[in-house]
Amino acid sequence: MARNIYKSPAELRLMVEPGLVTAASLDAVRAAIRPGITTAELDAIAEKVIRDAGGEPNFALVPGYHHTVCASVNDDVVHGIPGSRVLKAGDIVSIDSGAQVKGYNGDSAMTIVLDDTARPEVVAARRELSEVTRKSLWVGIAALASARYLGEVGGAIEDYVRSKGDYGILEDYVGHGIGRSMHEEPTVFNYRTRERGAKVKPGLCVAIEPMITADGLDTFVREDDWTVATSNGADAAHWEHSVAVHQDGIWVLTAPDGGASELTAHGVVPVPIP
Ligand code: MG
Ligand code: MG
Repeated sequence: MARNIYKSPAELRLMVEPGLVTAASLDAVRAAIRPGITTAELDAIAEKVIRDAGGEPNFALVPGYHHTVCASVNDDVVHGIPGSRVLKAGDIVSIDSGAQVKGYNGDSAMTIVLDDTARPEVVAARRELSEVTRKSLWVGIAALASARYLGEVGGAIEDYVRSKGDYGILEDYVGHGIGRSMHEEPTVFNYRTRERGAKVKPGLCVAIEPMITADGLDTFVREDDWTVATSNGADAAHWEHSVAVHQDGIWVLTAPDGGASELTAHGVVPVPIP
């Protein structure tokens, strides 16, 4: 018997603060990222924001992982370990961060492409990849607002990505429920599956996180035992938000405006958690 995946209204309210702290940590990284900075420096910036807010970096609660963010550069897709790597002009960098506050968790990721005036075509292709991934996330979130079953989210993401070109949608890594643990049931696929998935109803909290490559979907784990990279060296992008379904609608927990600025275009008006 699966455990209850639906949270009470009181629990949903406790999901708000970790979402906002997670968002703030990514905002700080976005403001600081530039060629010449190391991924370890970005990690320290995110950690300070989370600790100053009274939170705890929840990635560091994962056994064996000791950092606040994952920083995945170019052909690294996810789970890149922050360190001495110096970011260069034109790099495509995915930063994934999470905060635990009062026992509840946030989880969100973004991709940033650094300017490189010497390689405009490379930058343009990487920005396009990131935008397709980012927009597919919002398509998925918008689908959640009216979905009866969670599988509709993956179907919507897949349809959008396929409409934009020959991109690869990772299948070995997926989204997840979120709450007292960063990773909970149910699984949130980024593509259409045979199963219709969990029923979408008030109390459902999920992290939706499409991971898209410029080409192909084979990956391998590097010798550090964490970093997931594309087998063919293709670039990758990763965007993620934690989203709550409640009695009056949906609210994107890791966006300060609940997702309003992006969801309006999809005809969805997010509603604050009552
Ligand atoms: Mg994440
Ligand atoms: Mg996640």
